[in-house]
Amino acid sequence: MDHNKLADLLFPDVTEVPDDMEKRFPQRELPENACVTRIGPSPTGFVHLGNLYNAIIGERLAHQSGGVFYLRIEDTDSKREVEGAVETVINAMSYFGVHFDEGAVADGDNGSYGPYRQRQRKDIYHVFAKYLVQQGKAYPCFMTAEEIDAIREQQTANKENPGVYGKYAKYRDLPIEEVKAALDAGKEWVLRFRGVETDEYFTVEDAVRGKLEMPRNNMDFVLLKSDGIPTYHFAHVVDDHLMHSTHVIRGEEWLSSLPMHVELFNTLGWKQPVYCHTATLMKMDGSSKRKLSKRKDPELALSYYQQEGISQDAVWEFLLTLLNSNYEEWRLANPEADYRDFPYSLSKMSISGALVDLDKLRDISKNVICRMSAQEVYDKWLEWCREYNDEYAQLITKYPERTLAALNVGRGGAKPRRDLETWKQACDFMSFYYDEKFTVTDEMPPECDEETRKLFFEKYLASYDHNDDSSAWFTKVKAITEELGFAVKPKDYKKNPEQFRGSIVHITNMLRIALTGHANAPDIWEVSHVLGEEITRARLGKWS
Ligand code: GLU
Repeated sequence: MDHNKLADLLFPDVTEVPDDMEKRFPQRELPENACVTRIGPSPTGFVHLGNLYNAIIGERLAHQSGGVFYLRIEDTDSKREVEGAVETVINAMSYFGVHFDEGAVADGDNGSYGPYRQRQRKDIYHVFAKYLVQQGKAYPCFMTAEEIDAIREQQTANKENPGVYGKYAKYRDLPIEEVKAALDAGKEWVLRFRGVETDEYFTVEDAVRGKLEMPRNNMDFVLLKSDGIPTYHFAHVVDDHLMHSTHVIRGEEWLSSLPMHVELFNTLGWKQPVYCHTATLMKMDGSSKRKLSKRKDPELALSYYQQEGISQDAVWEFLLTLLNSNYEEWRLANPEADYRDFPYSLSKMSISGALVDLDKLRDISKNVICRMSAQEVYDKWLEWCREYNDEYAQLITKYPERTLAALNVGRGGAKPRRDLETWKQACDFMSFYYDEKFTVTDEMPPECDEETRKLFFEKYLASYDHNDDSSAWFTKVKAITEELGFAVKPKDYKKNPEQFRGSIVHITNMLRIALTGHANAPDIWEVSHVLGEEITRARLGKWS
């Protein structure tokens, strides 16, 4: 068989050769040991947490080493493509603070290793496809779907491995005249790799999993589909070679196709990137662990975190705790540090499934928000509200000073309040600062019956001086508490409950509920000063 003739027959328009491609995509000029990494999402419209998980690893490796992190859109499966999906990926990554040095952007490309959308790289793949045919390493296969089904049935019956290989690769050596006749007759074909018949094993060092021993590929897998678009396998190898990726970070579901990729790298004489197959995201379901499912678990979608208003910093910190076992220890030792200063390391990654625990995320989120300045919280909360809660965006901008002062309550110091956990929940929590949203939701303590309430608020308002400092204010509260027959010291009440009508805890709860609507709210004196005298008097006056 004259392979050159076959190559010309299949790819008459391809005039460039691999060397031309090497020149077009030269070595990058980067510091020694700089990592070049990427994410390669498919534009299906669904961006999942795993995309961000892998993006963080790639981003950290590249930016910690002075390298390059890029975005490649893997759109070889046009059936799964959804309109606007590229923008969705780009926006989601940008919302979570993942910045690409190069790659696909909304209206084109940024960088000199593009195009960064695989379908636009068809000509590039064809150069290598033609080369592989010339080398006798690839051939056209005219097998129909029915023929493939028949093979599969036969293989199942014989308990053989499924796939096109060995005797099942019936178009491997089709005489060139027959290829020509089939092409002239307009028969559909795919380009297959010519697998070697072998039962050898090879070893590969996975940066996350260590040394892996796997059977060498013996399959005639598809390189180009019938529309001339490459499969993931071929596109991955060509792109990561030409774009000079040093590390390929991808989900462990790709592990089983690694033998095909290694075979292709070897056949083309290219250096393999370092593979990092990351653990699948799992969750606890009752007492057992299972994979996160698109259908059952809203938290698999990145949009969930956006809609819930979980800050980008919290999501990063949460994923870093999943990614590196020593992150939490580092955070405790460096409470004020930027999480980007954490020295991320591939070798500290776990290979058992990463457990996505939303309670833990919320807890981390509280810590993250309580460390922010009031202004930062204000800006981020407002930005979220502008997209997801217009009513609150309007309230915040109608009362900017009050909002900022409210966000300052309990902030700073060694033990800041951890009231806010998400931007969505902040709308609920902060509602009492706005008359437009204020409602009393909690029940008054039973110790404070209607008569007590009336009496208390009458006396409280009569002696209320908005200029009192917090200790003068509290002295007055204590005096009224005593007058009403309540214990000023909770422990006195505990010791002799029959001697009192209740304790100061009941009194301050009543006051807090009247002022904020909730028993769990920040300091009463501080809240009054954020609300101002007029609102304070109006809210409390309703009870007197
Ligand atoms: N397009 C692949 C995916 O969405 C990317 C895998 C890779 O990063 O190589 O899973």
